[in-house]
Amino acid sequence: MFIIYGQKKMRINRYSDHQQACSECRAFDMEIKVYHGYFHVFFIPFWPINDRTSTLQCKGCGRRTRIDSLQYQYEKKTKKSPFLYTGLILVACLIVWISIANHNTQLEKKAYVTAPQEGDIYTMQQRDGHKTEYYFLKVVMIKNDSIYTQHSNLLYTKYVSEPNDEDYFVEGDVRVIGKRQLLELLQEGEINGVKRP
Ligand SMILES: [Zn+2]
Repeated sequence: MFIIYGQKKMRINRYSDHQQACSECRAFDMEIKVYHGYFHVFFIPFWPINDRTSTLQCKGCGRRTRIDSLQYQYEKKTKKSPFLYTGLILVACLIVWISIANHNTQLEKKAYVTAPQEGDIYTMQQRDGHKTEYYFLKVVMIKNDSIYTQHSNLLYTKYVSEPNDEDYFVEGDVRVIGKRQLLELLQEGEINGVKRP
């Protein structure tokens, strides 16, 4: 993947000045535009760089000129625009959003495990030496405090969110788990995820 990044500048304010006469037409009607440089990624401003710059133009005759002392005054009083940080703000929002979503997933998982239903599918995680393996358990029946489950035929060497197409739940091999034991499996991280159809 390639990333486009670099420097650009945006106008952060515009002023009219009526103190300074135009050297061409003598009008007292100057326009000052103040700019700020920024670092962009895919043209989204991430943070400000360099300093403020400005242009000065007579609104009467259109003549562009440069008066450092005057421009400096306006550059100095112009505050940085929050738009200069757009990218950083987006990234921060994304992080907050992901953590809220993750928190909700954890809550949902706990709610499902606390009150299991037939058809629930657990993503199970087990450690075997240095490697972690995954498989699935499907709840096929609930009787009193016992949950009857069938395991997937396949064992996965890396995390998958659902069983693959050739996989199936082995009917003849039922594993009975107590409700309390199920919660323990969640707390110990052996239940990685729960899907309810
Ligand atoms: Zn002029």
